[in-house]
Amino acid sequence: MGEKKNRLAKLKQEHPKCCFCGGSKDTQTIEHTPPKVLFLKKSRPDALFFPACKRCNNGSSSQDSFVSLISLSQAQEMLNEGAKFNEYDDYFKKVMRSVQNKNFQANKLFVDAGKTERRLKGLIREFNVIKLKPEAYTDYLEPWFAKQTIALWYKHTGRIFTENGAIRINHYMTHEKQIYANLISNLPIDFSSPAQNLSQGSWRTPDQFQYQYNFSSSQGIGLCAVELHKGLAYVALVSDRANYKFTDNASLISNDRIWRTSAEKGIHHTKAII
Ligand SMILES: [Zn+2]
Repeated sequence: MGEKKNRLAKLKQEHPKCCFCGGSKDTQTIEHTPPKVLFLKKSRPDALFFPACKRCNNGSSSQDSFVSLISLSQAQEMLNEGAKFNEYDDYFKKVMRSVQNKNFQANKLFVDAGKTERRLKGLIREFNVIKLKPEAYTDYLEPWFAKQTIALWYKHTGRIFTENGAIRINHYMTHEKQIYANLISNLPIDFSSPAQNLSQGSWRTPDQFQYQYNFSSSQGIGLCAVELHKGLAYVALVSDRANYKFTDNASLISNDRIWRTSAEKGIHHTKAII
């Protein structure tokens, strides 16, 4: 058997069920979450991989590319002309080309919102301002965030996220982090755990991917915060208690969707009932 087959056989043995759709489907593939495309020059350490059925693995390649595109466009290195600006800019263009070649049209997810001027590398330049349409959130960003949340839930609790579970996602930009940190300080969860990132030996990518995962077993809720390229970020409030309503914390969350998973549908959203 090849090395890849060996790895899959071992994963199936240790994790016989897909961790993304409630725990009733068999593991068929290895899912790397977050995906390679998110990382500059695909420099993703080979850590964080998860057991997935074929449906849960295959369903998200357009989402992977779109999240990568948006997070690269909001990367601190891009917005603040960091030392790796040129490297970022090249990779951003490459992902843009690959997105255009895929069978979905990313530009249909944008609304043109005029122009703005910014100083870049000492020169004033004009940039297009774009806004994301609602379906960019419902069909691409949020299901991707929900998948990430479910994967990290599995890693940190050791339990497959069940069909009873529910996730609410709030987006924020890194510069709004303090505002959000103040809001979530009202939750009965210690949010002081150290940030974690992908690493393999001395190979670490904290500039590209970081997360915090905190869980209160007495409250049955958790918080998953993920930051991509120190630009795009989200916080997910997550519970695996049946019919958890997020009532106490509803005011923290700006959108009205609840994300769930099931063997039948995989990761999907429903209207929140508050
Ligand atoms: Zn699955």
